[in-house]
Amino acid sequence: MAMFLNILQGILFFRTFVPSYHTLLFIMAGIYLHVPFCASRCVYCDFYSTLHLEKRKDYIAALTRELRLRKHYLEQDGQTPAIQTVYIGGGTPSTLDTPLLEEVFNILYATYDIVPQAEITLEANPDDLTLPKIHELRTLPVNRLSIGVQTFDPDKLRLLHRRHTGIQALQAVSDCQDAGFENISIDLIYGLPRQSLEEWDADLSTALSLQVQHISAYALIYEEGTRLWKMRRQHIVEEADEELSLKMFDHLIDELSANGFEHYEISNFARPGFRSRHNSSYWQGIPYLGCGPSAHSYDGQDRQWNRPDLTGYIDHVGRASRPADFDNAPWIEKEELSLYERYNDRIVTALRTSDGLDLNRLKSDFGQTLYDHCLQAAAPHLRDGLIERISSTREKQVPNDLLKLTRRGLFLSDGIMSDLLYVAD
Ligand code: SF4
Repeated sequence: MAMFLNILQGILFFRTFVPSYHTLLFIMAGIYLHVPFCASRCVYCDFYSTLHLEKRKDYIAALTRELRLRKHYLEQDGQTPAIQTVYIGGGTPSTLDTPLLEEVFNILYATYDIVPQAEITLEANPDDLTLPKIHELRTLPVNRLSIGVQTFDPDKLRLLHRRHTGIQALQAVSDCQDAGFENISIDLIYGLPRQSLEEWDADLSTALSLQVQHISAYALIYEEGTRLWKMRRQHIVEEADEELSLKMFDHLIDELSANGFEHYEISNFARPGFRSRHNSSYWQGIPYLGCGPSAHSYDGQDRQWNRPDLTGYIDHVGRASRPADFDNAPWIEKEELSLYERYNDRIVTALRTSDGLDLNRLKSDFGQTLYDHCLQAAAPHLRDGLIERISSTREKQVPNDLLKLTRRGLFLSDGIMSDLLYVAD
């Protein structure tokens, strides 16, 4: 939360009046762009992407049209909020040639009020980050790179069907640093088939030697329908046992904390001042516009998403000519959230973070009944030391009253969160 407030304190209007939390949520927003192209498919991945790189130009034409026509989505009371973060994810955004990325940025800046200090992230794969490509990226407004390293182990990279080697990953990060990128995140995966604790420790120390600002680390998941899931069914690979995965998670927290990283969300670690502002805004319920096939949007009340279908996206969105073409369009799916669903969203997003769940805000947003439900469901976990309740009035006009997962609770987060959810009869 401290980081969140620091960002806001830079905004002039924040100094002139003290808005409510709700006002804060609606005067800022983010934009997510989904780039659905990959040069090949990794065995574990269930994100929407296609190998049809020849459609990149048509996709950009549709994407820029969507960006122009959906500006109204973020409007509140006739006002368009300032865009604090832009995240270009995928798929593999680094498969886009620089002139195509330039087109996207031209439309973004011409259409939206993007604040000068906005965080602008581009996801990139190490094999795309050649020296010429890195220098081209420096000419764009991108100020944060999220690099899909996953592991430095050559055998594991081959098993996952990643296209890069560990050496390439090291070179790519160091070349990006030399070129002047000062905010770099890398993704790692642990619990890989046949991965020992020592091998994971080696990945961690290599990652630390890179001096990056942010590390995201995820346990490998066998998503249904992926190639990896089939490989497990055919006994080609075996899932890491739970005890080993927990030890890996433990080492992850210990090593990164000892080296100056804040553990600010279950899978995310940042050096002070380098939390992902875009992802943090998801966890804080800040509205965002998502463009591109499969991209989700949230207006502060309800969610909607574009269907995961590149051809349909190019055909339909590429032909849209008015903002109204996006209301109830066949390529969009919508979900109106009930009070209970919004409460459940809050539980899952807030408890993931080290800032925790703000109980005062929970009560004012969802009422006494859901507040009581939350505390009742939390009681056994409080007794077992899996959750802690932190109350404080120090330097605060409004006293804090927070629920947070303890270190032991982090290991069991899925089960604890599901106990706190409200399931309507
Ligand atoms: S490069 Fe990324 S998005 Fe593409 S298949 Fe691999 S993990 Fe999935």
